[in-house]
Amino acid sequence: MIKLLGKLVADKIAAGEVVDRPLSIVKELVENSIDAGASHITIEIKNGGKSFIRVTDNGSGIYKDEVTLAFMRHATSKITEAEDLGHIMTLGFRGEALASIAAVSRVELFTKRPDEKVGSRLNIAGGEIQENVPIGCPEGTTLVVSDLFYNTPARLKFMKSDSTESTLIIDFISKIALAYPEIIIRLISNGTNLFTTQGKGDRFNTVLTVYSRDIGEALLPVTAESDWIKMEGFVSKPSFNKTNRKHQIFFVNGRVISSKVIEAGLEEAYFDKMFDGRFPVAFLFIWIDPSKVDVNIHPNKKEVRFDDDRLIREFITNEIRAVLNTKKTIPEIKVKKPESINKPVDDVQVDIKQLLSTMREKEEISNYTDISRSKEFSGLNSDELISTTENSNEVGNYLIAEQIKREYFSIEELHLLGVIFGTYLLATLENTFYMIDQHAAHERIFYENLMKQYKISDKSVQKLLIPFIINVSYTTKENAYDWLDVLIDAGFDIEEFGSKAYKVSGVPIFMSIQEAQDFITYFIENISEDIDLSNEKIIDKIISKSCKSAIKAGDIISIDEAQALISELSACENPYSCPHGRPTFIKLSKYEIERMFKRV
Ligand code: ADP
Ligand code: MG
Repeated sequence: MIKLLGKLVADKIAAGEVVDRPLSIVKELVENSIDAGASHITIEIKNGGKSFIRVTDNGSGIYKDEVTLAFMRHATSKITEAEDLGHIMTLGFRGEALASIAAVSRVELFTKRPDEKVGSRLNIAGGEIQENVPIGCPEGTTLVVSDLFYNTPARLKFMKSDSTESTLIIDFISKIALAYPEIIIRLISNGTNLFTTQGKGDRFNTVLTVYSRDIGEALLPVTAESDWIKMEGFVSKPSFNKTNRKHQIFFVNGRVISSKVIEAGLEEAYFDKMFDGRFPVAFLFIWIDPSKVDVNIHPNKKEVRFDDDRLIREFITNEIRAVLNTKKTIPEIKVKKPESINKPVDDVQVDIKQLLSTMREKEEISNYTDISRSKEFSGLNSDELISTTENSNEVGNYLIAEQIKREYFSIEELHLLGVIFGTYLLATLENTFYMIDQHAAHERIFYENLMKQYKISDKSVQKLLIPFIINVSYTTKENAYDWLDVLIDAGFDIEEFGSKAYKVSGVPIFMSIQEAQDFITYFIENISEDIDLSNEKIIDKIISKSCKSAIKAGDIISIDEAQALISELSACENPYSCPHGRPTFIKLSKYEIERMFKRV
């Protein structure tokens, strides 16, 4: 027999789509507070939100006559016509959140409009209104949600441990705090104040409040704008990186979203600056004409669809690349300040990162790793030295100046002092001392020359008086029609020579014969049948790896050769790291030297 479901049953089923765990309730309530124009929002949770969630705001409040309406399905004040859907400017618009939350928990609402004399208190449990009375209360809205899923045992069982649920909520509120730096956001968990943002609109400061101070030192500001897109935020210097993408946070038109397109744009920007399997930290805020993005493809609105993925991706890659190719990315040797070792813990900021990582360790739900691993990357001893470029204040001021000036580094002006250990060039410029890793620099030059050569049609090839022979296996030979072209494009004169060999009679002009032999040998060894040589990125990767093997460590160079290396490096598009992400430069300021000698 077919029967129409009763309202309560239907509500419970529908509720499951909007509310599946404490996080989704927090999300809906906070988004409502933002939509209500609040400038102050406090979120308090207990037991990961399972037993208690309270969100208090100082927003518009709800009219006494409309409080019950707010809890009805498809009741919304935010859209009236279907065509409004095309230009939604609020976070909520479906009018189902409050109805869904009330269907699966006990809810208490306090609300007051500024233009009404009294406010209301409404109690609703399992979707049924228990009480609706006038009450004196502050302007704004407070929603208390308790006993989540008390009437849906299956869902109740589905919830994870308190710490898993609270980790999700803390992550989410952290992101919201970044997205809305002009709102004071306070987060309390089990009675502990985790953070309170300043609400002064300063994104950098918000990052420092929400994530630790450490992260701030590693960030570079990004600002970019064209007629259809605007991007702001911070990306980490290549030397500061993670083993996963958890620290890549993206916002599109104010919403926290995940996006493969943005991830790909970012990855491409760091392509030749970071080892495989390492990921930069990024906080990117993007605004696009709302008619050019679709935020409605998923009810949780975590994914967006762009009209033109490629345009977005290229915009991100180009702009971030420009930020990374400045001298600000050079790792700097700094002596740790004594006060930062015993930094007092203030009550406004708890180390969320620490908190999250201990929680995660307990839960074993992630492969979260700490930053100390990134130190091995910059080659600095993490105990006494920290790798950083600018101090956080400077970055802050830099931002306030609005106009971001990209500082390019005039490498040719370096005053070369000498070479030590047959490897490192020493130089000064103004008040800074630089060390340059000869091999990292050479690899960078070699790689850029080769890629340039590969891309242009007019190759500069030097003919060899005595050609050399490269022997290969039968299988390699089988694939020759693919890889041979790549080598020819890179500027080699190479042709078949018998059944298992090739003859090389010309090499790119900037290579020595030994380098050319090593390059080709490595290149051929690393071509396997399943490599897609029509993919430019794969070719780029093989070329960059082959460069590494062609450059030998430890050759002593003269001052003249060192000078030539510096001028070639200055011609590079990205002189600050080798193609695999190792830095070419390390700097030490006069000020830091003076501090080490305790002069200042
Ligand atoms: P939606 O946000 O999609 O409109 P909700 O169920 O989340 O749907 O909320 C229903 C309505 O209740 C909103 O449209 C809004 O008018 C009102 N409302 C909810 N929360 C608040 C709040 N914190 N402050 C003011 N009004 C609110
Ligand atoms: Mg809503």
